[in-house]
Amino acid sequence: DVRVRFCPSPTGTPHVGMVRTALYNWAHARHHGGKLVFRIEDTDAARDSEESYHQLLEAMRWLGIDWDEGVEVGGPHGPYRQSQRGEIYREVIDKLTEGGFIYESYSTAEETTARHQAAGRDPQLGYDGYDRDLSEEQKAAFRAEGREPVWRLRMPDEDITFEDMVRGEITFKAGSTPDFVVVRANGQPLYTLVNPVDDALMGITHVLRGEDLLSSTPRQIALYRALIEVGVTEVIPRFGHLPYVLGEGNKKLSKRDPESNLFNYREQGFLPEGMVNYLALLGWGYSADQDIFTREQMVERFDASDVNPNPARVDFKKATAINADHMRMLPQAEFTERMVPYLQAAGLVADPVTAQERAILEAATPLVQPRMNLLAEAPDMLRFLFTADGDLTIAEDATKKMGENPAAVIDRAITEVESLGDDEFTTARLEEVLRAAIVEDMGIKPRLAFGPLRSAISGRRISPPLFESMELLGRESSLARLRAGRE
Ligand code: GLU
Repeated sequence: DVRVRFCPSPTGTPHVGMVRTALYNWAHARHHGGKLVFRIEDTDAARDSEESYHQLLEAMRWLGIDWDEGVEVGGPHGPYRQSQRGEIYREVIDKLTEGGFIYESYSTAEETTARHQAAGRDPQLGYDGYDRDLSEEQKAAFRAEGREPVWRLRMPDEDITFEDMVRGEITFKAGSTPDFVVVRANGQPLYTLVNPVDDALMGITHVLRGEDLLSSTPRQIALYRALIEVGVTEVIPRFGHLPYVLGEGNKKLSKRDPESNLFNYREQGFLPEGMVNYLALLGWGYSADQDIFTREQMVERFDASDVNPNPARVDFKKATAINADHMRMLPQAEFTERMVPYLQAAGLVADPVTAQERAILEAATPLVQPRMNLLAEAPDMLRFLFTADGDLTIAEDATKKMGENPAAVIDRAITEVESLGDDEFTTARLEEVLRAAIVEDMGIKPRLAFGPLRSAISGRRISPPLFESMELLGRESSLARLRAGRE
């Protein structure tokens, strides 16, 4: 059975690379009918925070990445926060010590460097294995000096080869990976130990994670072999290393870049559907001729061996275009719902939305849904519907296509509108009457004919179409705004 995991450290704000990893693991699990385990690697008390933990939960829930075992939902291999698994690690460490797979090491970094220099080796080389075979007397002597040992894993003296799900066969030469520290002098196990130990205990079968972790894979495989020897687990999971995500200027996206912060996308008005589609494309594709797909389609096709090992690049324009497609795909009622929080944040509608506001929103939805790329455009597009006539402000860019005599156009429109009865105040009738009067009778080019009206009615360059907007506002409001636009 396929079992994968998402195991972030709760530091900082969820970023694009991290949620892409979560998404791929989720898709892999769902594709194979397997399980996703959500574990928190909070072993660095100085950097970890509860706030960051809650943001991780929020990110997963927003994107709709659900998990089968782990924090919040529990499961048979808990606890799922590493900070609560100390005793479990202690037992494993004892087994590894007894089996001779890890050993006490007293060398300081300076001593290692000095030994490299004395032997004519590159002083930058890592740890040289000096303490591998210390006798009990030597250890006692070190301790008598007041030294406290760390514990290192004995790396095998042979090449380590594995089949990366994304990159194919990868070999790390014997001797290229120094014996590494797994337990600190104070007895605290390190990430290098607890990450594979948890994967082993939680029965993880596939590890999909960022390319930055590739260099730790030979160490983890070595540790896995030791864990198998001491009976902690039976198999080594398969590994797949996902490509780097690059930002502007082809630099690796850093946590500090605004394009890397997932919540920035939400603030800008991305739908989770659009975001999932976009994240999926950072290294994977549904098909050569189809960029837009749903979560379900991704699950249907996802295969780690199709992940492109070359770096992926964030591209806000492309992300926006993808999101726009998903905006069109939403059912109308759903689209209305999705706009609400953005309108509330802008103070345009109440929380909860009143019945009257809802009626306006529902009527406006078919007009704006085909025109918006991001949900955050909603307040600007719809502000005119939730603003009292006298409070409407006219944006500067809404007064560009006004023609030569906007006042005359507005005057004529007022006359025409006044002559319409309430039951005639419909989009079709307004269009018919105003076109006949302003374009045909006054002879103003269509391109300029309605600029003054649009500006008076919505105060925005981009808004729902003019006649529909007037119908939505109703006769009284439309007239009041036209009269105000005349002044
Ligand atoms: N906690 C690690 C990180 O956030 C995850 C490492 C892994 O996926 O193996 O980078």
